[in-house]
Amino acid sequence: MKSKKKDIRALTKEQLREFFVSNGDKAFRGNQVYEWLWSKGAHSFESMTNISKATREILEDNFVINHIKVDQMQRSTDGTIKNAVRLHDGLVVESVLIPTPSRTTACVSSQVGCSLDCRFCATSRLKRMRNLNPDEIYDQVVAIDNESRLYHNRPLSNIVFMGMGEPLMNYNNVLKAIDKITSPEGLGMSPKRITVSTSGVPKMIKKMADDEVRFKLAVSLHSAIDEVRTNIMPFNENFPLADLKEALEYWYEKTKSRITYEYVVWEGINDRKEDIDALLRFCSYVPCKVNLIEYNPIDDGEFQQASNAAIENYISALESRGFVVNVRRSRGKDIDAACGQLANKT
Ligand code: SAH
Repeated sequence: MKSKKKDIRALTKEQLREFFVSNGDKAFRGNQVYEWLWSKGAHSFESMTNISKATREILEDNFVINHIKVDQMQRSTDGTIKNAVRLHDGLVVESVLIPTPSRTTACVSSQVGCSLDCRFCATSRLKRMRNLNPDEIYDQVVAIDNESRLYHNRPLSNIVFMGMGEPLMNYNNVLKAIDKITSPEGLGMSPKRITVSTSGVPKMIKKMADDEVRFKLAVSLHSAIDEVRTNIMPFNENFPLADLKEALEYWYEKTKSRITYEYVVWEGINDRKEDIDALLRFCSYVPCKVNLIEYNPIDDGEFQQASNAAIENYISALESRGFVVNVRRSRGKDIDAACGQLANKT
């Protein structure tokens, strides 16, 4: 039978304080338990040593701590680590630690599977099972922070929401997780070190702008021509580039935060001059930079990374127009941990 007990970490600190008051205890007890749950990362009520046995039993009777469990950890030859993370209901998501000489980045998942249908992404082949809860997102970050300290002798420095799922289709929970990650009671990280990557849901981009979020925004563009984009990202049919443009202008107007466009160049798909011209036009709408991502093949060979010459054409066209462009090399390919390869293979 399914437990009727509530996930204690779904409660705010205020709700936890109220719980204790309504049980004839002091509100302050709520602060203590909250600290155990978030700053000290307790996995059980038993481990809360400054809480009396009687109180721990009350907690035990009413709540559960649905902590994630890292089922399997794989390490790449380049230092990248991939965690297969088991959730309390048995479902699995993946998260990745990406080390560079100067930083450690956590790439986290926001949903189990994905409801989008990007044809070049392995995750799109997994049905979207459910959204992750805020604590399930937070726990992935904590697990990677611990691994970063253990294997790279430094704390986590950056977070990207580029794992499984579309973060803007689980917006409320992603926001709550980021609140916790940036709060002094959680990890106290600066929001400037967090990037939310979206395939581009215009309505939600505007909502984020209205909410005055302080993290960074990345958009998986891949083409600035509707016909091409719809072919590789079919949901573009419902969210055409004109709507995306309008939402991004709104975002920049409100946040003054530069947007990153993620872009893979594929042979025979978006390697023509007109593709480059369309991107140049799109880049002129709002301050931005372009990350050209290396393509990570996902089995069927339908998509091929374009030639170096084609990629050079993009770089020189962007640079000559004064746009910032970075070329992002894949990390962790040998363990299927690179962009678009997360598919719970093991
Ligand atoms: N749903 C979000 C976040 C997950 S995808 C989004 O679309 O942005 C993270 C990034 O990996 C996106 O830019 C996506 O387009 C890219 N990606 C997906 N499959 C890929 C592949 N096979 N090779 C390289 N990048 C890929």
